[in-house]
Amino acid sequence: MEIESKEEKMKKGMEGKFKNKIRFIFIINLIFMLFIIISIIKFYREDSFGLVNKTLNPRVFIEDENVIKGSIYDSNGMEVAKTVDGRRVYKKGIMGESFFHLIGYVKEEGFGLESNYSLALQKVGGELNQRINAIEEKKVYGNNLHLTIDGNMQKKAYEQIVQSGKNGSIIMLEPSTGKVIAMVSNPSINYDNAKYNKSDEKKFLNRSTSGLYAPGSVFKVVSSITIMENRKDYESEKYECTGHINIDGNIIKCYNEVAHGEITLEDAIEQSCNTYFAYMGNEIGIDKLRETAEKLNFNGEFDFEIEVSKSKFTKEEVGTSELMQTYIGQGKTLTTPLNMVTILGGVGNGGIMMKPYVVDYISDYRGKVVNRTKPSMINKNITLEQSTKLNDMLIKVVESGTGKSIKNNELKIAGKTGSAEITEEVTHGWFVGYAPYDMPKIAIAVLLEDSENSKATLKIVEKLIEEYEKL
Ligand SMILES: [Zn+2]
Repeated sequence: MEIESKEEKMKKGMEGKFKNKIRFIFIINLIFMLFIIISIIKFYREDSFGLVNKTLNPRVFIEDENVIKGSIYDSNGMEVAKTVDGRRVYKKGIMGESFFHLIGYVKEEGFGLESNYSLALQKVGGELNQRINAIEEKKVYGNNLHLTIDGNMQKKAYEQIVQSGKNGSIIMLEPSTGKVIAMVSNPSINYDNAKYNKSDEKKFLNRSTSGLYAPGSVFKVVSSITIMENRKDYESEKYECTGHINIDGNIIKCYNEVAHGEITLEDAIEQSCNTYFAYMGNEIGIDKLRETAEKLNFNGEFDFEIEVSKSKFTKEEVGTSELMQTYIGQGKTLTTPLNMVTILGGVGNGGIMMKPYVVDYISDYRGKVVNRTKPSMINKNITLEQSTKLNDMLIKVVESGTGKSIKNNELKIAGKTGSAEITEEVTHGWFVGYAPYDMPKIAIAVLLEDSENSKATLKIVEKLIEEYEKL
């Protein structure tokens, strides 16, 4: 009996201890579960709250304590922007300057990819691992952006425009995909001494995407498409250029009043004959030209990863003088360099205009691709026939026309020069084209403000296409 009662006692004691232990484990588990639930709720709240409103919400520029914002890489894997000790760090020196307008920064008046992709850079991939880390109060890592921009080409383009001593823009993109390889704007800002305020608006303006310029003679490509569509015998139709044209007292002159003689559309493009286009403009009218321009992104939104100004073509009726001016790229027409290079890229690409893009893909902290940009078409409003004819003309511009100062024939550059008169003293120089013309790999736009003519732009084009060939 004694033994029994002892056993019972022990049993009861053990049961009590066992129950206590279970209770203890249960409470610990409960606390742990609660901790996990609170952490996850907290995590989700931080992940989704406030980040949506990217420019106005201070959460975005006061770095999220739990998320280390991802990096931005160029196409060679060079880190252009990264987070160090909770602060964003950018490339120093000229490399940083070359990227400034594209990368931008995040602040009240943030801009560029840093601002537009702030949410993406704080989004957390590989959730489970990272969330467990988060519970242990370790940091979690946001996703990374991988750009189509080649840092070497970007720097070279920037150096070229700085050496020219002119303000302006250079863009290089793949016409077959729309991948932007380089996009620079001068003047720029050095991240090392950036005060991060917009007091100096001239430097902050991204001339590639937000600069609106008179296209000058580069616009004759658009006028040519209109002529092709409305003068069915344009290939044989001749016009006699005497160096100037006078319609009802409205006078248009050719450059230096040079008489180009008896010419067709092809010669008119090659020699950039103003009077030919002024004459045709008067014959065809403004509506048909507007129709073509609007098919080529004028007066419409331009879809891109950073803000792009709307290229403008007059929506009103015009008098004879403005009509003739508009056909030679003057008048009220304004365009961004990005729009012009997209159009000329389309000509080089058999009439198919591809949508330009700079974000190639987004990866998570392990390097796993989360989202990749697929090349997409804007439209094929330039027909294959038109693009083939234009290609022949644009080859001639460089072989024997206004672009003939390019000495290296092996590069096979085709394109259109332009000198856009802004005032009597100020003329902007343009070149927009592509190479090699039989299978274009790269399209390029160079715009130099206040540079008299397109000579300096042609030098830069030649140099950069040479450099691109070496990549
Ligand atoms: Zn002429």
